[in-house]
Parts: sequence; structure tokens; C-alpha cells
Amino acid sequence: MSSRRKALKTISALPLVGGMLGPSILGATSSKVASKLACPITEPLKRDFFKELGIRTFINAAGTYTSMTGSLMHKEVTEAINYGATEYVNLDELHDKVGDRIAELLDCEYATVSSGCFGAMTIGLAGVMCGTDTKKVAQLPDTTGIKDEVIVQEAHAIGYTHALINTGAKIVSVKTAKDLEKAITKNTAMLWYLNANTDAGDIKWEEFVALGKKHNIPTFIDCAADVPPVDNLFKFTKMGFDLVAFSGGKGIRGPQSAGLLLGKRKYIEAARLHTPPRGTTIARGMKVNKEEVLGMLVALELYLGRDHDKEWELWENQIKLISDSAKSVKGVETKIHVPPYANHVPSLKIHWDESVVKISKDEMRKQLRDGHPSIETVGNKKEVGITTWMMEPGQERIVASRVKEILENA
Ligand SMILES: *Cc1c(COP(=O)(O)O)cnc(C)c1O
Repeated sequence: MSSRRKALKTISALPLVGGMLGPSILGATSSKVASKLACPITEPLKRDFFKELGIRTFINAAGTYTSMTGSLMHKEVTEAINYGATEYVNLDELHDKVGDRIAELLDCEYATVSSGCFGAMTIGLAGVMCGTDTKKVAQLPDTTGIKDEVIVQEAHAIGYTHALINTGAKIVSVKTAKDLEKAITKNTAMLWYLNANTDAGDIKWEEFVALGKKHNIPTFIDCAADVPPVDNLFKFTKMGFDLVAFSGGKGIRGPQSAGLLLGKRKYIEAARLHTPPRGTTIARGMKVNKEEVLGMLVALELYLGRDHDKEWELWENQIKLISDSAKSVKGVETKIHVPPYANHVPSLKIHWDESVVKISKDEMRKQLRDGHPSIETVGNKKEVGITTWMMEPGQERIVASRVKEILENA
């Protein structure tokens, strides 16, 4: 070995920190220093938190269910969240700037990141009820002297209306357009529409919006689970709904506790008066932290930039694979369908005659859940339901073979 190479070798073997800090410090911390130096070469093992807690993870063959923790965030989204955790910013300024950016992306007047679609409904209605009157803002949920009736079609009045009564408002339920017009009083604050139940309701979007405009009452549409299609992010603000809300942690694959409130600037600015950092308000607990504000923005950017046709084709192929695999078992039938509104993705229903294939639907789902890996599905006494849009690519093959295996062994 040449003396030059020998010298280089000696230098590279010296603990660099030791040279800088001197021997006394080095002596006290040598093992720490050594482990720090080793760090870039052998990364320490990552903690497996769910395993530590004794929680089983699973393949999500069900869909964007709140109980199953919604969706998985892409790496770009978690990177934005991690980035957000490293600095202080002014919370209102962040919301202002991100709201403008989202409004630009979605070509609407204004936007804000909310605490889920549910939170968007509460603050949206609160904004409509109180405007910029800070005395009224502080007064809710006491609605004395504040318009506090929200008209909802009976078929739309499912549990999510609780987000509206959180403000102190009351629900007035109607069936037809005629009923709706009759139900309008001087206390009517807003008309609320649930997109998922469009088919079940008498009044459809355009007529609903027109009724609102005719009587000068703001309209709100809950579109929580309504992407795909991506167009819905633009469609309803353009149609004339004053406020539109989406879940962040469903099809958009943002943080599960975030959401989007889109629409008229005056209502969204008023809605913001109920949110943190302001404290004496009904929505103090509906905080969206800076990490999730950034995560939501990046998730939306990614979602808008995705190849939606290609994604659809992938889901169709995955569903067909699982369907074919299930159908290959004698006595098993399948149906591929796409729900028209909400969770509008290729979906599979598997059913069978239990006198031929001797297993109940519940037992089938239990065996899928209890197997390795665990697989979650949806269903009832008549069928097992599967979607693939919340799976990681490749998992459809595992699901296809497990479904077949359980049905064959029944
Ligand atoms: C999921 C859902 C909500 C609640 O949305 P979050 O984002 O979980 O707050 C509200 N309405 C409908 C129709 C939903 O599907």
C-alpha cells in the first residue's frame, strides 16, 4: 500500500467528531458517537407500531370505510405532513393561502380545508347562520334571533344531518318541491342535499339549486364519497350550489380527518370564524392542524393529476379477476356493478346457494378476516361485497385466490 493510500485510510478511520471535540468529550460519549457514525450505513430497525399494539392490519377489499380508517395516503402526502411538522407558521395565514390555492385548482370562488366532510357541514352551516357577526358566532348553539331551520328531503335525512344540528339548527324534512316551498319560513337558513341519495329523493340537483335561488336561500351539497368521478370536484359549484363538501380521506386519499369546503367566499370566510385559532366557538374542536392542511392540498394536487381512465381500467381488471376466480367454483354467481352516486367505482357482489356451497355469507367474511393476510370485505346475509380501489396493486391476486379457496372448501 502506498503511503498516500495508507494515510487516507488512517484519516477515514479516525472518528471525525473526536478530532473536533477533543479527547475528553469523546471519552465520555464514545459509544454514542460510534452509533451515530454507524447510522448512515445501517439504519436502525423501524418500529412496527401496530404489531407492538397487537393490532392486525388487513387488505382493504371493502372500500373507504371510516371504521377501516378510510384510505391510504400516497408518499407525497405523508412527506408534506412530515414537512409541516418541522416549522411554525401562522395557522390563519396557512388556511388563507391554501384556501386560495385550492379554489384556483378547483376553479371555484373559495375553499377551506375542514375537519372532514362532517366538519365542513357544521362550519358551513354555522357560517351561513351567523355571517360575520361575531356576537352570533359566540352565541351558537343558542340560535335565539338566528335563522335556524335547514330544509332536507326526507330520503336525504340520514345520520349525517347530525353535522347540521350540531350548530343548534333544526331539520325540516320534506318530500316534493311543492312541500319544500311550503316549508320555507322566515327562519329558513339553508337547503341541504345529500348527493349519495340522489336517486331516492324527489328533487334533483338543478331544481334544488333553482329553488334556493328563487327564495334567496343558500344551498349546500354533501359530496363526501363522490370522487370519482373527478369532475364532481368542479360540477356542483358550477351548477350553483353555494357550498359543496368532500371528505379528504376517501377517494382523494388525503388525511382521514380532513375534508374540503368549497363555494362562495362570503360563506366560507364566515365559516372560518367558527374554527381555530378562535376559541369561543362551536367548532373549536374541529381544528385542522398545519400538517393535515398541507397533506390535504398535496393529496388534492395528486388526485387531479392522476390518470383517471387508467386507474378505472385497473379497477375493472382487478374486479374481473376476483369475479372470475369466485365464479369458477360451482354454485357461485357474481355481479359487477358501479353505484351511480357515492363510491362510484367497479364493485363486485358474490352470492351462492347455501345448499350447494355450504357456508354463510357472514362465515365467509369471517374466514377472509381471520386468514393470513387478513382481508376485509362488506356484505350482508345475501352477498359478499368487494371493491379494489383501496387495495395496493397486486393484492387483488391474494383476494381472488382466498375467495376461491374458502368457497371451494365449503
Ligand atoms: C363519509 C361521509 C361523511 C363524513 O365525512 P368525513 O370526511 O368522515 O367527516 C358525510 N357524509 C357522507 C355521505 C359520507 O359518506
